[in-house]
Amino acid sequence: MSDMNFEVITLFPKAFELINNLGVITKALEKDLINVNLHDLRKYGEGSYRQVDDRPYGGGSGMVLKPEPIYKAHESINKLPNSKTLLMTPQGKVLKQNDLLRWSSLDQLIIICGQYEGFDERVRSLADEEVSIGDYVLSGGEIPAISIINGLTRLLPGTLGDPGSLVDESHNSFLLEYPHYTRPLIFKEMKVPDILVSGNHEEIKLWRKQKMYERTLDRRKDLISNEDYKKLPKSKRIDEDSNEMMKFRIGNGYDIHRLVKGRNLIIGGVKLQHPDGLGLDGHSDADVLSHSIMDALLGALSLGDIGKYFPPSDQQWKNVDSLYLLSRVIELIRKQGWEVNNIDSVIVAERPKIKPFVEVMKKNISEILQIDDSFIGIKATTNEKLGPEGREEGISCHSVVLLEKKDENEVEN
Ligand code: SAH
Repeated sequence: MSDMNFEVITLFPKAFELINNLGVITKALEKDLINVNLHDLRKYGEGSYRQVDDRPYGGGSGMVLKPEPIYKAHESINKLPNSKTLLMTPQGKVLKQNDLLRWSSLDQLIIICGQYEGFDERVRSLADEEVSIGDYVLSGGEIPAISIINGLTRLLPGTLGDPGSLVDESHNSFLLEYPHYTRPLIFKEMKVPDILVSGNHEEIKLWRKQKMYERTLDRRKDLISNEDYKKLPKSKRIDEDSNEMMKFRIGNGYDIHRLVKGRNLIIGGVKLQHPDGLGLDGHSDADVLSHSIMDALLGALSLGDIGKYFPPSDQQWKNVDSLYLLSRVIELIRKQGWEVNNIDSVIVAERPKIKPFVEVMKKNISEILQIDDSFIGIKATTNEKLGPEGREEGISCHSVVLLEKKDENEVEN
């Protein structure tokens, strides 16, 4: 017995002569790795004309394959224990590389090829699976069957010279394969990428992986947005891997605190004077600018918000200087291997005037973050007397940050 026994029910067995001239498949036949038995449907036809088709009930154009000959042919096949019957139909599930892999462990694959307008509906009950090779209609199931025989045979051990060539291949991991080059180095002024001749195998591996992502995103985004892909374990998914390669992350933070009597008004570490003597209420010093920057930093790495790290229920953070909290957050960000690229904040306050203090705020933040203050943007606006800020019920702040991944050897421990 061969590793894989194909049993094909067809009205055109001659079409399968092609597999005798198909490289790897032909070799697999010669090595007896596969066995292809053709079952000529005509042989099971009825009457002296060996009739296999008839006009459709209810009228309409074309002829339909009758059920009896197909059933007879199917019954004549000696079924192996590990066997499946596939029906070729454009109405089937579209063939995927994963199906070929799935079937490659079977002993026997029975393939039924339709012709003309197709087959009598009752033929469907013979099939374990209905398979289409794409969203178009061919005149018969022979080319689809040959495609399956071809695609499946090359997966069998002993067929391809280098089994490694199966590993990276397009569609194996929902990703298309990276580009290939062979000699000559320069052809019609098109040069092989330097990296491939660098001899640096680690770098080449990385380059290839990156090209696989780029190609897939560029040409077949659908491959990684489909449900099967989403069911893959996270570690195998592109978003995990591409996060690893991602050099930038963006974060967004927002905070608002009430204006009340008897509290200090501290923003960006600067103590301001409100004309009515109001200050910001909160567990810590309620510095909305520092808080929104912290949330943006944590958000950029999907680490949650400041409430998670400095909960109001914890007495040690009572009235604490928010710049100190910011120093703790930036430490966490750096530990994860990220560095602040730039920050942009906007403070929304009706009064007092913020602008004269912006430079000092920038200096405070830049000292804590240890980045040049030219990478920190702080703007102030009123809310035109609208909303809670406009009615002076509170002061709010919005921030965005861009984080950049540091080179691995720069990461502090
Ligand atoms: N009228 C039918 C199509 C018949 S095509 C319908 O609309 O469903 C004739 C035969 O070719 C089919 O029975 C099927 O065996 C084969 N065939 C055609 N296109 C195919 C495809 N995309 N995938 C698999 N088999 C196909």
